[in-house]
Amino acid sequence: MNEDDLQFDREHIWHPYTSLIEPLPCYPVVSAEGVRLTLSDGTQLIDGMSSWWSTIHGYNHPRLNQAAKDQIDKMSHVMFGGITHPAAIDLCRRLVAMTAPSLDRVFLADSGSVAVEVAIKMALQYWVAKDAPQKNRLMTVEHGYHGDTFAAMSVCDPVNGMHDLFSGVLTQQLFAPAPQSTYHGDWQSSDLDALKEIFEKNHQQVAAMIIEPIVQGAGGMRIYHPNYLKGVRALCDQYDVLLICDEIATGFGRTGKLFGYEHANIVPDIICLGKAITGGYMTLAATITSQAIGEQICKTKAGVFMHGPTFMANPLACAVASESLAILQQGDWQKQVCHIEQQLIKELAPLKDSKVVADVRVLGAIGVIELVNAVHMISIQQAFVDEGVWVRPFGKLVYIMPAYTMCPTDLSTLTRAIFRVVTQLI
Ligand SMILES: *Cc1c(COP(=O)(O)O)cnc(C)c1O
Repeated sequence: MNEDDLQFDREHIWHPYTSLIEPLPCYPVVSAEGVRLTLSDGTQLIDGMSSWWSTIHGYNHPRLNQAAKDQIDKMSHVMFGGITHPAAIDLCRRLVAMTAPSLDRVFLADSGSVAVEVAIKMALQYWVAKDAPQKNRLMTVEHGYHGDTFAAMSVCDPVNGMHDLFSGVLTQQLFAPAPQSTYHGDWQSSDLDALKEIFEKNHQQVAAMIIEPIVQGAGGMRIYHPNYLKGVRALCDQYDVLLICDEIATGFGRTGKLFGYEHANIVPDIICLGKAITGGYMTLAATITSQAIGEQICKTKAGVFMHGPTFMANPLACAVASESLAILQQGDWQKQVCHIEQQLIKELAPLKDSKVVADVRVLGAIGVIELVNAVHMISIQQAFVDEGVWVRPFGKLVYIMPAYTMCPTDLSTLTRAIFRVVTQLI
């Protein structure tokens, strides 16, 4: 990649959340291996982001590569309407085995946002089938993030989400304050008061409550008390509201449990999975519900669930996902995540004393430093690259979620780089 290529990129290609008028600089990555990204000038960066939670086993993994190669020689794609194939069946067998016993009806979607759309559509169609079409609103909490499509946007945080921009178009949903009790702190039952009130007043109009279990991701990187999620489950039961857990970021071991809902010992009615499902190889997601809910959904006049993407259950993606889950099922993820957690707690703790740091939070293989002020993106990004690491902050948040396979030495390099860059912000 030369300067011409980068110039073309700046002039013609949109990147996530960027301006075409003032594009931010992009770093040219030409290959990746394990936990390292290689830039076109040969520089190697230790990756703290796992390409947004997804590459949990590291890049260029021999088993995932082989699964892709084996599948590509059989068929890359075939329509899923009226046809099935071994890759989808293998994957769904594993998904059903890994999730709670009642979660056994799988819908394969193309991306996290679509998995959320599908979950919402399931909830709405469920109540139509139950002759309660007035139950058509959603409840959620502030500081959530559920994706960039329209129904997903409607349940993203009303302040840092895109509500202002699309206010006339987005469905008005019901928001409770975000949980305040932290994961490791004391539980304050008053945390649930506002939510109870909203349930009481509105339950007859509410189809489902959607929430990220235990860790709120892109809406604020907040880590909350399991009792809050327990309370949510109890209120959903009491008021006959479906519970959707958006596990797209938290799923597949990231928080130290295979799924976030396990921290609270609850079982959701519907879960959304994505991000790490293929080990970061390609886009795929899943929405899983129970037999009872699945069957109820199909009792409408339509008689079917009304969704079916063109690339549903893409065999290449399914084959790699199945292998990624096989690695998880056989592997050491629990020990790896536990070691990363211990090391993050130890090595990020000293940052709490810095004047520029408001809070340090760790759960599983997630480390978050909340700063007092928002960062200057261009300069902090370059500072991290100069330190030999890839960390991409947003707003006041500097956070990492490394591959589970990152060794202690690389993780220390990463945390030391964060320490130096953050403490130089003064
Ligand atoms: C990333 C994310 C999504 C959206 O997934 P995409 O694949 O980007 O569409 C939804 N919910 C949560 C919790 C996420 O972290």
